[in-house]
Parts: sequence; structure tokens; C-alpha cells
Amino acid sequence: MKTRNNFAAQLSVLVSVLLITAGTSLGEPPPESVQEIKQRLDSQLSSLEALYKDIHSHPELSLQEEHTSARLARELRELGFEVTEKVGGYGVVGVLKNGDGPTILVRTDMDALPVVEQTGLPYASKVRGRDKNGVDVGVMHACGHDMHMTCWVGVARMLAGMKDRWHGTLVFIGQPAEEMGKGARMMLEDGLFQRFPKPDYCLALHCDALTPHGTVSYTEGLALANVDSVDITVRGKGGHGAAPHMTVDPIVLAARIVLDLQTIVSREVNPTDPAVVTVGSIHGGTKHNIIPSEVKLQLTVRTTKDSVRKHVLDAIERIAKAAAAGARAPEPIVTVDPGEFTPALVNEAGLTRKTVALFKEVLGADKVFERPPVMGGEDFGRYGKAGVPIFLYFLGTLPPERVVESKREGGPTLPSLHSDHYYPVPEPSIRTGVLTMTMAVLNLAGK
Ligand SMILES: [Zn+2]
Ligand SMILES: [Zn+2]
Repeated sequence: MKTRNNFAAQLSVLVSVLLITAGTSLGEPPPESVQEIKQRLDSQLSSLEALYKDIHSHPELSLQEEHTSARLARELRELGFEVTEKVGGYGVVGVLKNGDGPTILVRTDMDALPVVEQTGLPYASKVRGRDKNGVDVGVMHACGHDMHMTCWVGVARMLAGMKDRWHGTLVFIGQPAEEMGKGARMMLEDGLFQRFPKPDYCLALHCDALTPHGTVSYTEGLALANVDSVDITVRGKGGHGAAPHMTVDPIVLAARIVLDLQTIVSREVNPTDPAVVTVGSIHGGTKHNIIPSEVKLQLTVRTTKDSVRKHVLDAIERIAKAAAAGARAPEPIVTVDPGEFTPALVNEAGLTRKTVALFKEVLGADKVFERPPVMGGEDFGRYGKAGVPIFLYFLGTLPPERVVESKREGGPTLPSLHSDHYYPVPEPSIRTGVLTMTMAVLNLAGK
């Protein structure tokens, strides 16, 4: 993440204190809300931090979020939410009604990743699990979903305790399988917007691994890309390595296809439209002197426009088939798994501006910054595709000095999300996450 301010810590603290205490133009919700949330946070923080560490040390893989979802359901029930479990897999939906007013959905994801944690933290995960292929793997919250859940519980506690300050309906959802790009679709297909109050707005936050705690960042409009997974089985005719003329070599053919695919983005897509075609996996053969009968390729494809997405996916199939024809090979099998598709995430402009203006008043303008879109994916975009204005923002989670250090020439590279070394600093990250999200809800439903 390319930050655009220099995070002069002392100055920014001063500015934010001035802005908050001045309290001039907060409008709705009133500035007292900020003070009230901060006071409530002071008394909740140790329990939220304990919750965070507990979730961190007990991660569960995508589609296996059994205990995590039960934990979240319990937390909401204690606060008076009407809770339904197992909505689209292990999805949790909690509804809290508080008179007439807008319906606001706040989403957390729940799943962890097949990563062996290397942070060395006292609360590091030692959990092992089985991935979807049955392989034994380490399990770690390396994408910060544990922080998302903790903030989500914190926000629920704040709002349940401040019912005099808002009106409307809260729909808090714990979403499974974000890392597979599946969970949002599963919850929507299980009637999220039919069986429960349909939201007027959907909000979410995501940890950022490169920015300091106390800050948030956002992108208006297109923020994250369309993500597709493509599998190609390149077919040939196997035989002896010493008699290639008796075979059709799928390894040479696969190598040609990998290179030909590079021309899609460079030669076929308008240079002003971002697109990525990456071959992330290539497997074929067993031994030096055997020409195998097939080679398997796995691709990730990133685009931002539907028309470009269609063109790129069509081009992959066309190029693979043409290369095979040129090599007198059988037609390759090209499959795009619709279940693995994650649509681009587009933050609705009006909701983004309204919320960002509030964040600037709450945190200070120098703690809120815009960032360019990236070609990563997040299935929160599906709630937007389903017709509801959405806003996902990024929560800074690092000690400011580590960020400064990393920007020095020759400074250490910061671990990214999904790294076995990434971790948010719990206490200040929870503070900013709960404060900003609670205020974002009050900004839409405040009295
Ligand atoms: Zn992730
Ligand atoms: Zn994530």
C-alpha cells in the first residue's frame, strides 16, 4: 500500500485531538458519540483483546468455521440480537431492531488460511488442519479476519449499549469462506437478503498490513478486481523420451501456451484497462525419459471490467486450443470454475464520501487517506452486486515506527497479508476499528 502522508505521529495526534475537542461540524452523529464510544471502549478493551487473542490462537480454515461461528453467535445473543446460525455454511446472522430507520449490515469474515504461523507471538496459532484435499496444513489467521471479528463484536457491543443514539435495524453477519471467494455467494444464495431484513447499506473493514494503526484508508469506486481461476489440461500422446516422433509432447505444448498467454494482456487488452493473467502452477511428467500424456496448468485471472473479463477468459481458451491444433494435439480442456469467481469490489461513491468525511473528523484528516485500486479480490463485492450500496475500508494495523523504518532506503520489507509473519497490533487496531465502524453506523442511523 502506497501511503501518501508521512504519519508524523505527534502532529497527527495533536490535530485529531483538536478536531475532536473542537467538535464543530460533526453534525449527525454528535461529537458526544465519539467520547461515549471511547469511554465504553476503555472498559471493553481488555475483554476485546482477550477475545482477539483467543480467536487468533484457534483459527479454522474456510468452510470449517464451526467453533468460530458458534462463538460469534454467542456474543451477539448475549447482546440481545436475534441470531440465526448456519446461513450458507457456517454463516451467522444477527438482527437487532431498534424502531424505524435504515437497515445496516456489518460484515466480518471468519476463515483462516493454510499457513504455519511464524510470528513468535505468545498467542501464536499452533493449530493444524486438513485442507480441502485432505492435506495436513498449519492454520493461521494471516489475513486479519480475527481482527475483523473482534472489531465486529466490539461494534455490536457499542451499538447495543447505545440504543438511544440510533434507530433502525442492524444486521451483523459472520461470513464463512472469504478466502475461497465463496462465502458471500453462499450466504446470499441461502436467502440473506430475503430471510432477513434487506440492508440499505453494507459496511466492512479489512486489515491493512502496510499502514500504521490509528489510520484508515479507502478507495472510492472500483477498489478490488474480478478474480477468476482457470484450469487447463494440456493433452498430448505419451511415449519414450528417446522417441519424440512417436508422441505428441504436452510439455513443449504447455510451455508454448504459457508464453502465448502473455500476449493477451500485452496485445489484446486496451492498455488503459488493468488485467493480469498469471500461470501459478504447472505440473506434468514423472521421469526424465518419459513423455507424459498430459500437463496441468492453473491460472489466476484479474480484471476490472466485465467486458475485459469475458475477452480474457475467451482468449485463454482460444489460444490454448490454437496452440494444441498447431501441435496436432487433442483439444485441451479449459475450465473456469464459476464457484471460484469473485466479482470486483466497487465502493459506492455517496456512501464512501459520507463515511470518509466522518472518518476525517473522528480521526483527523491526516489519518484517513485514499489509495489506488489493487488487483486483489474480496467477495464483499457480491453484496454490492446484489444491489446494495457497499463500503469496505482498510484498517492500519502496524506500529508507526515499523512503517517509517520500512520506507527508509534499504529498510526491512514488511510482511504482506497472508504472510506467516504478519500480525496486527491488537489494542490500538481494535480501538480504531471499533471507533470508526461504530461511528460509520451512527452516521447512517444516528438520531
Ligand atoms: Zn485473505
Ligand atoms: Zn481477508
